[in-house]
Amino acid sequence: MVFFEAPHSYTGEDVVELHCHGNPNLVDLVLVEGLSLGLKLAEPGEFTKRAFLNNKIDLAQAESVADLIAAQTEEAILAANNSLSGRFSEGINKSIASLVSCRVSVEASLDFPEEVPEGGVAEGLLLEVEAQISYLGSVLEAAKQGLKIREGFGVAVVGAPNAGKSTLVNRLAQDDLVITSDVPGTTRDSIRANINLSGVVVEFVDTAGMRKNPVSQIEREGIKRTQKAIEGATLVLHVVDANKRGGVDSINKNSIKVLNKCDLLDSIPLCEDGEVCVSAATGFGFDNLIELVLIRLGLSSSAETSLLSRRRHVDSLESALFFLNESASSLKKEEGMELVAENLLAAQKELGEITNPVSSDDLLGEIFSEFCLGK
Ligand code: GDP
Repeated sequence: MVFFEAPHSYTGEDVVELHCHGNPNLVDLVLVEGLSLGLKLAEPGEFTKRAFLNNKIDLAQAESVADLIAAQTEEAILAANNSLSGRFSEGINKSIASLVSCRVSVEASLDFPEEVPEGGVAEGLLLEVEAQISYLGSVLEAAKQGLKIREGFGVAVVGAPNAGKSTLVNRLAQDDLVITSDVPGTTRDSIRANINLSGVVVEFVDTAGMRKNPVSQIEREGIKRTQKAIEGATLVLHVVDANKRGGVDSINKNSIKVLNKCDLLDSIPLCEDGEVCVSAATGFGFDNLIELVLIRLGLSSSAETSLLSRRRHVDSLESALFFLNESASSLKKEEGMELVAENLLAAQKELGEITNPVSSDDLLGEIFSEFCLGK
């Protein structure tokens, strides 16, 4: 048994850890004995929730514990660890502190107008608000990138039968396959493969061939699923046999035309914008293809990701920026300070939602229910 004395434990409370042999029967006996003595089983994420409630970590850090455990790539692990170490929260808290000091001078100018220095406070305030807008703008960009890394992407691979779609997905997957899950059923089903592309998990959906005149009911169903995969995808790879260009309608979506089987051509054709020439058989052109996929997904392969974020962080940052822009435009137009004070407060509350929300049990319940037991 190891005793961790409050407040130096993970949760901030007195904690005793029992270490025993891993034999499940033995563990069960220890659990049963503990429960009979009045202990209760921890809920998912309960240790981290207690750490949050006892102010050992803030909410963004608590979320990054779950992200660290679920991270599927090295990049995601490093990014989650950055958030866990408090780097993200620190930046947000500095912004909050700056907004508080702006609000103090606005409120003071409202309450004690006779003490406002000559020239007013608007100019200094505007400078500070603009500095925060620029800082939070860069945090928002990083957060959006972090969100993409966390949520992953869907790429649909479509094209005529025998264009080489499956061969292409297999080649992309080589050495980099995270998980494949074949949807059971006919060969006309979509096959999904999660592939690690430069640290980002991308789900490729290898679809049934698209022909203009499907011959059977099964093929028609396959094509319906292909349409669905295209709708759900962030990007479409439209695979075309370079020896028979054309034949399939162009795709009305963020897409890359992949001219495959270039090994069979006498010379490599000139690719237009948004096209890439490859050979799924030999691997020719795949570096270009991967680079173009990353660019089209909004990720450059050299970009350094510093945090892993969630949609609620992005939403709060966007709202905070909205209120700060309102404040700045009021200050520029020399509108009433009451309005500025209100917008600054609203921006501060939005930022507070990221690290220490005043609300609601629902949000906490939702966040901690994603954790596994014992974390
Ligand atoms: P899909 O129906 O679009 O999934 O096409 P497949 O991946 O099953 O490929 C159809 C045929 O084309 C297979 O015989 C592959 O070996 C062949 N193939 C695929 N890619 C290439 C390529 O780049 N070069 C050559 N020479 N053959 C290829």
